[in-house]
Amino acid sequence: MDPVAALAAGGRRPRVATVWLGGCSGCHMSFLDLDERLAEVAARMELVYSPLVDAKVYPSGVDVALVEGAVANEEHLQTLREVRARTRYLVSFGDCAVTGNVTACRNVLGAALPVLRRAYLEAADVTPQLPQAPGLVPPLLDRVRPLHEVVKVDFYLPGCPPTADLIHYTLSELLEGRAPDLRARLRYG
Ligand code: SF4
Repeated sequence: MDPVAALAAGGRRPRVATVWLGGCSGCHMSFLDLDERLAEVAARMELVYSPLVDAKVYPSGVDVALVEGAVANEEHLQTLREVRARTRYLVSFGDCAVTGNVTACRNVLGAALPVLRRAYLEAADVTPQLPQAPGLVPPLLDRVRPLHEVVKVDFYLPGCPPTADLIHYTLSELLEGRAPDLRARLRYG
């Protein structure tokens, strides 16, 4: 049996997660734009982890994860690896996840330190001071990376943000055990 089709044949509602890495949350806002379709989709799945629900730990046995945002710091890196290890189908959700997009604009500065210097010293309006508390802020990576540079991605859902219609189509296809065919529907930006 096709592995995606096995999702629908499992006799239970697929376990779905959404994850927020280095993005502006606009992709999640677009998810909420499903409006009344949210109830229809929610009835066909179990939302087990998301910034939209009160779950603190990413669980095991997730069927589908929509991951928003690029990988910009050490915490994103660790989270994404955990998500990959515990998820059957990982969807790169939005342009930042797919290409780096806005989050990766800082890559032109070449490394993390010039970014911090620019944000906290040169552009600061007050007495400049770099963040001192170790562990308070996850260390930035020198280069922002799209998801597929770190882990295997199963499906790509571009758009800044992807439209609610596209999110609905992709999720519905996966919940029905079909691989979404996005070739004629792709749009960046
Ligand atoms: S793709 Fe666009 S809407 Fe989504 S997180 Fe990135 S900047 Fe925000």
